[in-house]
Amino acid sequence: MNETFIPLSVPNFSGNEKEYVNDAVVSEWVSSGGSKVADFEEKLAAYVHMPRAVACNSGTSGLHLALICAGVQPGQEVLAPALTFIAAVNPIRYVFAQPVFIGCDDTLCMDPDALEAFCRNNCEVRDNKLYNKATGKQVAAVMVVHVFGNMAAMARIMQIAQQYHLVVIEDATEALGTYYTEGPYKGKFAGTIGDVGVYSFNGNKIITTGSGGMLVTSHPEWAEHAKHLSTQAKTDELQFCHDEVGYNYRLTNLQAALGLAQLEQLEGFIAHKMELYNLYHEALNGKYGLRILPFQKDIRANHWFFSLYLEDYPLERDELIAALAAQKIQTRPVWALINQQPPYANCEAYGMQKAEDYRAKIVNIPCSTNLPLLQAQRVINAIIALAK
Ligand SMILES: *Cc1c(COP(=O)(O)O)cnc(C)c1O
Repeated sequence: MNETFIPLSVPNFSGNEKEYVNDAVVSEWVSSGGSKVADFEEKLAAYVHMPRAVACNSGTSGLHLALICAGVQPGQEVLAPALTFIAAVNPIRYVFAQPVFIGCDDTLCMDPDALEAFCRNNCEVRDNKLYNKATGKQVAAVMVVHVFGNMAAMARIMQIAQQYHLVVIEDATEALGTYYTEGPYKGKFAGTIGDVGVYSFNGNKIITTGSGGMLVTSHPEWAEHAKHLSTQAKTDELQFCHDEVGYNYRLTNLQAALGLAQLEQLEGFIAHKMELYNLYHEALNGKYGLRILPFQKDIRANHWFFSLYLEDYPLERDELIAALAAQKIQTRPVWALINQQPPYANCEAYGMQKAEDYRAKIVNIPCSTNLPLLQAQRVINAIIALAK
């Protein structure tokens, strides 16, 4: 077969990337110095309507910093999703806390009903703190992931968090550009609603710096603390004095150069993803035993990843993935549930039925921002042909 390979999701460097990276190289500012990191922080903060953003070297390190700034202590518990990338959960362990897994709803994000039921039935409030009745541990925070660029039910989740004294950390690593168009949070971006939010610029995300992340928070002192921790917690430039254990979580000037060029294109990327999504939706949703999972109605979603749901399709998930791979079309299953993986197998998990079903039946289909519509049509034709 002479068909070209169609990847699942690849970077798109069709803007000013080469120019800005070249500027950084020519200026010889390629590491943590140079003006581009601060510039990227300012432009990203402005894009999501926040006063400040703190750059870091990955989404994972941003989430680690978020948990430290939130004051999550060793031995405490954090409510977290199981149907997501494991980098949303590992940082909970970095601060020696434990995840308690809460299932998802039809948005693939944390189910607010399960969250509320867990807090009400399995926990008790004492002295304005929430305690897990089974373990006696304090439940300090909830880690909300905006899966595939969809928005979790933030109005409900914020109300539950307030009632049960939980810090809200938003893993918005997949949802840069997603915002509410209606309701109490109209105009608010994913990542800017809870106490602290984190974006990722990994290679497969909607914009990329190779690797990188950004933290935003409604608490100015947390932003200050995150910046301090990400730069080795240095208090004196000349004498090299440090007042706590810091990290080398800095984004480099080279990465920020890429990020600035990518951010200029973000709205265009989202527009193209919406075109691709609409094409797939039109051709496949409700046909051949398939559904294309929707994004929430009250948001402008960034449409990062598309979920083909095999409701009553003749092939199983892995058969379809293999058959498409044979035609040079790359797809993938949704993540194995985190509560079933060795590091987390002993953790409590609550309300997992939908997560298990979606894990078994979702295939993510090609969604690159530079995927031509004709190539998406080839994917559609292949999926339809395999149904017959
Ligand atoms: C990508 C991702 C992360 C981690 O981001 P990195 O930049 O790769 O460290 C965390 N959580 C989720 C849900 C992600 O998809």
